[in-house]
Amino acid sequence: MKVVTRFAPSPTGHLHIGGGRTAIFCWLLARHFGGEFRLRIEDTDAERSRQEYTDSILASMKWLGLDWDGELTYQSQRLDLYNSYVDRLIEGGHAYWCDCSPEEVEAMREVARAKGQKPRYNGRCRQRGLGPGPGRVVRLKVPDEGRVVFQDMVKGAIAVDVTELDDMVLRRADGMPTYNMAVVVDDHDMGVTHVVRGDDHVSNTPKQILLYQALGWETPVFGHVPMILGPDKQKLSKRHGARAVIEYEQDGLLPQALVNYLVRLGWSHGDQEIFSLSELVRLFDGSNLNSAAAAFDPEKLQWLNAHYLKESPAPELAAMLRPFVRQFGFDVPASRLEELAPLYRERAANLKDMAAALCPYFQDAGSLSCEEKAAKSLTGEGRAQVAAVRRVLAELPDFEPETLEKAIHEYVERGGLKFKQVGPPLRAALIGQSGGPSVHLILAALGRAESLKRLDRAAG
Ligand code: GLU
Repeated sequence: MKVVTRFAPSPTGHLHIGGGRTAIFCWLLARHFGGEFRLRIEDTDAERSRQEYTDSILASMKWLGLDWDGELTYQSQRLDLYNSYVDRLIEGGHAYWCDCSPEEVEAMREVARAKGQKPRYNGRCRQRGLGPGPGRVVRLKVPDEGRVVFQDMVKGAIAVDVTELDDMVLRRADGMPTYNMAVVVDDHDMGVTHVVRGDDHVSNTPKQILLYQALGWETPVFGHVPMILGPDKQKLSKRHGARAVIEYEQDGLLPQALVNYLVRLGWSHGDQEIFSLSELVRLFDGSNLNSAAAAFDPEKLQWLNAHYLKESPAPELAAMLRPFVRQFGFDVPASRLEELAPLYRERAANLKDMAAALCPYFQDAGSLSCEEKAAKSLTGEGRAQVAAVRRVLAELPDFEPETLEKAIHEYVERGGLKFKQVGPPLRAALIGQSGGPSVHLILAALGRAESLKRLDRAAG
């Protein structure tokens, strides 16, 4: 059997990390089994759905590296399909037209509540044989007795008595399908074998199973992953530092870090923390999904980000860095970034900080500004050191890091100096910063001509 999974976001907001994690799980499951991963935009709520959110969700999917198979599906373009199945359910006696007003339905719920029962529609229109008409909805005729039982991939066996379920609306008065109707038709039509989603949908699943049964379709496997909570075990929110996927991208987080972080938040493989994507594809078979809600831990995410900043191959790092450098107004060839990025990969927390730290390398000597702390090291004595080192450097046969390191070391020794009398003024002169990589690495990165120009300017 070919495994087909899907991710079905509603474009009513940006992709948040909970949705991102669901998408990653679905993608991994499909890739692990060599199946298909489909993407469907659930935009039947015309009021709240926005194209800009669809675009943003797609961009986040791409950024996370989650490619999808086949056409992108929009539910709003499939209304006829849903309604054809609503008609089929009516013809088969599984659904019926209902003209009860929302107020009447609410009153029925109230009556049920007063009797200590589950609030639900009382089935008044079941036998009335109504046809279509303005203001009428179509409801599912829930069987009178029985239980819906399914084996959840995450939560284990779940059983619900049908008396708990309402004659739910399948088609609204405006002709739009409800979520449960559209989702079942789509999942069946797309050949979805595994529905993995957030457990905020677990109560919909028995209703959807009834629809599969009424339509004579085989039900897929379901898996409901628990919500992500804040470190305080409360519902995750911005207050916990949780952000939309696009915000992490804009902040300069590495997508590998977010993918690795989110997968581990709800799935485990022993106590391993770091996984490459290919390793995840190999290991992720849908088992070992945690049924307990996991807490979001921003520090661990930063820790993983630091790991991937350190480990990413230089060409990859340079490619990711380029748009951030461009935001600072510098269009720098990738090859140049490949040389520079390794100098900062262990110093910067993210790509944005790294791009900011690299700006001085792209400015020309004349427009280089100096941080306040760095400027303090460029007073009299510091400037004299800069001038003296400049004379030494000008004589060197080459500007390779080893040659430079040796020359500076010898200069310090010869003069009976401490390195901190020489290093900080040089760094300030070269890049206007008080911290940063070793001076010889900065010099080599800038090259002889540019370095000497900057030293001359600082020496005054
Ligand atoms: N559109 C639904 C949501 O965004 C998806 C539900 C599902 O996966 O079935 O919550």
